[in-house]
Amino acid sequence: MIKKCFFCDIYTFKEKCPRCRKKTRTPHPPKFSPEDKYGKYRRMAKNRGISS
Ligand SMILES: [Zn+2]
Repeated sequence: MIKKCFFCDIYTFKEKCPRCRKKTRTPHPPKFSPEDKYGKYRRMAKNRGISS
């Protein structure tokens, strides 16, 4: 799987960045937890001004 160095902003397949030697990570952000999802829905409902 492809990895990314977030310090150099370069992609590599190695566990460590070939430029700065820092540990690379997968470029995809972690998925939101269900709790965050419900919190988002709550905020959306609030923004719509549902008062009934
Ligand atoms: Zn780097």
